[in-house]
Amino acid sequence: MRYFLPALLGAAFDAAIAATPPTCPQTASAPIANSERSLSYCVVDGMAVLDDIILGSHDTIQRQGLPPLEVLDWHLLRENPPDIAAGQRAKRQTSAQPSTSSATTWPRNTLVYAFDRLATPMTRQVILQAMQGIESQTHVRFRERTTEADYVSISTLQTKAERPELCGLATVGRVGGRQRLDLFHPGPSWGSCETTPIARHELQHALGFYHNDIDSWKPGLTAREIKAINLRYPASALDPSAAGTPG
Ligand SMILES: [Zn+2]
Repeated sequence: MRYFLPALLGAAFDAAIAATPPTCPQTASAPIANSERSLSYCVVDGMAVLDDIILGSHDTIQRQGLPPLEVLDWHLLRENPPDIAAGQRAKRQTSAQPSTSSATTWPRNTLVYAFDRLATPMTRQVILQAMQGIESQTHVRFRERTTEADYVSISTLQTKAERPELCGLATVGRVGGRQRLDLFHPGPSWGSCETTPIARHELQHALGFYHNDIDSWKPGLTAREIKAINLRYPASALDPSAAGTPG
């Protein structure tokens, strides 16, 4: 099953993230792999960003084009998994974000993460609360990194004067190697970004969901969101050892 970006392109811009008109000091565009379309994005810290989604490294995308904007289901691929990381690992020394391969969901329903040393105590707290909420409602699990090569590095970024409406950043799906998820501090004028709903929103991106599958800013996951998550992270794909049960 493949989920493509066009739904995202037509989706309403996140209400809270777009509480003030989006600004972008530097825009760029690039062709999308395996398609005849191009996409415009904003350049933030050397990354290509669309709304709050990290598309990849701006430099790499300008050289190679945008990756296929799809997230493949790991549990459907594991019989014959794509070599998602091989091409990316070769380039990783110059770019933390891959650019030419499809993303996947997380193997055995388990997203591996590590807090960066710059992550504030509040970012850590709301991320952990959001993880607990998702775990309690779905078959997704979160595990702190030990030696895994593929993981989400979670940090806190200083709110950008040039893009004050940005509240978070995340890559969609598992892209191979270290990938980023950031919350901004102190946040825009309308309030803090370090909240559980915003943390959950960015985690949903990291799990492989675009905005069409995310109902933002609710106290917990909605029935529609749970259904979408269960489709891509079924109980059958869960590694029992990751669930904290014997075996
Ligand atoms: Zn978003």
